[in-house]
Amino acid sequence: MLCGCSGSNEHVRNFEAWMQPNGKIKVLSTTAMIDDLVGQVGGERVDRLSLIVGEVDPHSYELIKGDDEKLAFATVIFTNGLGLEHGASLRARLQKRSAVVALGDELQKRYPELILHAGKAIDPHIWMDISLWMKTVDPIVETLTLADPEGKEVYERNGEALKAQMQQAHEQMLEQMHKIPASKRFLVTSHDAFNYFARAYLAESNETSQAEWQKRFAAPEGLAPDGQLSVADIQNIIKHLAQYKIEVIFPESNVSKDSLRKIVNACASKGLKVILSQSVLYADSMGSLDSGAGTYLKMIEHNVKVLQDAWQ
Ligand SMILES: [Zn+2]
Repeated sequence: MLCGCSGSNEHVRNFEAWMQPNGKIKVLSTTAMIDDLVGQVGGERVDRLSLIVGEVDPHSYELIKGDDEKLAFATVIFTNGLGLEHGASLRARLQKRSAVVALGDELQKRYPELILHAGKAIDPHIWMDISLWMKTVDPIVETLTLADPEGKEVYERNGEALKAQMQQAHEQMLEQMHKIPASKRFLVTSHDAFNYFARAYLAESNETSQAEWQKRFAAPEGLAPDGQLSVADIQNIIKHLAQYKIEVIFPESNVSKDSLRKIVNACASKGLKVILSQSVLYADSMGSLDSGAGTYLKMIEHNVKVLQDAWQ
């Protein structure tokens, strides 16, 4: 282990193995959160690979060497959709393939009332609410069954087991978060990735309208992290921190902490004591396998634990 790049070496090995024809269907998912569910539904019948690897921003992801081969070789490609993958090269390549299933777009067709909007933009961060992400299991089962009809029973059985596990995890997360007093459940992070999380886990049960629960979450950067903070952005977030007596703000694993540091400093200059959490939250990417946030459910559990520890 001379180069210290074992993670990327492992990915190259996975890619090479995945490219070997072996009779299995080859499933490519843009994000690791999708790939995790595909693995649980498909089991041994599918060879799966995630396109966007490591703690990089999926919003602006552009194709890198080898990605074209992956996109061309895949039997099935799952994307998040809802505008998440908006890097120009990836978007152009996805438009050329007919085997693409955008799970978020599928949810929007089936449950339009559950999808959140920020102005005209759709909020793509649907994985942040387990009970919503769980609803992508059916389209995954249906898509794998179409590609591999002999696997129908396996996919359906695995899908049902996965949904039951996710439902249980969802209820546990809700219970954990609601052990914290409502007056403390106000989250501020780098970018607008936690709206679904706030609606599901931070809001009081009577805060059902968007106007009511939205105060539970705020971020200085928009739906895609861009690092461009205006004076108004900073003033708005300071006002929000003061209004709800928020004492700690949380960095995200794959987003620069610069904007949050600016906010902490601006707060200090106004005599408002706000600290930056030492523990990061996982939003747009899962952690590495040894981070304790290396699977989809572990990532959400990690976030809940970090918030619990900070808000106790
Ligand atoms: Zn995001």
